[in-house]
Amino acid sequence: MIKNIGFCTKCGSENIVKNGHNVSGQQQYLCKDCKARRSP
Ligand SMILES: [Zn+2]
Repeated sequence: MIKNIGFCTKCGSENIVKNGHNVSGQQQYLCKDCKARRSP
């Protein structure tokens, strides 16, 4: 079962990986295509 973590809001790619947490403890994601970071 693959958990859908959405897509890049910048380029629309689904090639997203988890990228640790920010200082607030929120999960961060990194787009492997455009290197944009996002939170849920
Ligand atoms: Zn992207």
